[in-house]
Amino acid sequence: MRYPFLNLKTVNEPYADELREAACRVLSSGQYIGGCETEDFEHMLAEQTGTQYAVGVSNGLDALRLIFRALILLGRLHEGDGVAVPANTYIASVLAISDSGLTPVFVDADERSMNMDTSRLKTLPAGSIKAVLTVHLYGRPCWDKELADFCHTNGLQVVEDNAQAIGAVAGTDGLNGTRVTGSLGHAAAFSFYPTKNIGALGDAGAVTTSDREIAVTVRALANYGSDTRYHNLYRGFNCRMDPLQAAMLKVKLPHTGEVNGRRRRLAATYNGAITNPLVTGPLTETPDNCVWHQYVILCPERDRLRDYLTDNGVGTDINYPVPVHLQPCYSSYASLDFPVAERLSRNLLCLPISSCTSENDAREISAIINNYGK
Ligand SMILES: *Cc1c(COP(=O)(O)O)cnc(C)c1O
Repeated sequence: MRYPFLNLKTVNEPYADELREAACRVLSSGQYIGGCETEDFEHMLAEQTGTQYAVGVSNGLDALRLIFRALILLGRLHEGDGVAVPANTYIASVLAISDSGLTPVFVDADERSMNMDTSRLKTLPAGSIKAVLTVHLYGRPCWDKELADFCHTNGLQVVEDNAQAIGAVAGTDGLNGTRVTGSLGHAAAFSFYPTKNIGALGDAGAVTTSDREIAVTVRALANYGSDTRYHNLYRGFNCRMDPLQAAMLKVKLPHTGEVNGRRRRLAATYNGAITNPLVTGPLTETPDNCVWHQYVILCPERDRLRDYLTDNGVGTDINYPVPVHLQPCYSSYASLDFPVAERLSRNLLCLPISSCTSENDAREISAIINNYGK
């Protein structure tokens, strides 16, 4: 591929020396679980997010599961409670809800933001949800004053799935000033899966919160439910973050602003250069809020466009081709109708936007797209 969608070796190349050094530091420390690498990383993430606490964990799905389990143990949620979740998200968001014995309540997407259409929350039957899992899909915050007010008025727990939006600034309405995603609700889950804007060299995740009870409970749950050594308060899990991954992330985390800025410039280039009437670009009203985990275009002839781009050396991806309620493992929801999410899944295509792509590449890719159908 002349324009690869993503090459993780290229992404990590600029940090290679520092990453090697950090890996050697862990090797010679003799501390392979817990310890100062993880603690340092947690402090860095909490500070960057503007929260009181960060807990390093094994991956993004576990971060979400630990949050929901903690909310149940703290008596804020109860088995069977409904949790609003967008119909267009990665399946991990929904797995975390159902795995915790809670009930996913799917909410259709907004066609323009491609996030949950939060205006639909008020149309849900009273009492049908006790929590909202807001997913900042593709790096665009799903958060505004109406949503904050709605959750507050109805006493809902608010959990953020921040796997795709590290460092995104939420709200230009003055409500939250310049608070970033990960600090908006009661707790937030991060993923550092290698393809995310800030990726580890394996699986890693984190929970951020300014709620001490949640932080303490999540930390205990992730360590066999143990609050002090060999004293088990909860029937917990083993979901700790590897110090080796914490050391990798300590190198990469300080580059969040720069990585996101680069993606923003690529998005601006695509926004300005793609003019093919067969293709709709993403919402650009608040482009500075978005950290562009994906740059998503819509085209009714998506599969043909994708083949054409492949033939022209442009790597693409589809996040995600099958909405969660139509997955075999959630067949009990298959009769539900989420027309916007379903249409998006048929029409969307993700263009290259990682550090493997230059602004000149983005201009050339745009020109190739503009020639489609001619
Ligand atoms: C990646 C991702 C997750 C899961 O993170 P893992 O670290 O892969 O477990 C959850 N939600 C969303 C929206 C994601 O993109």
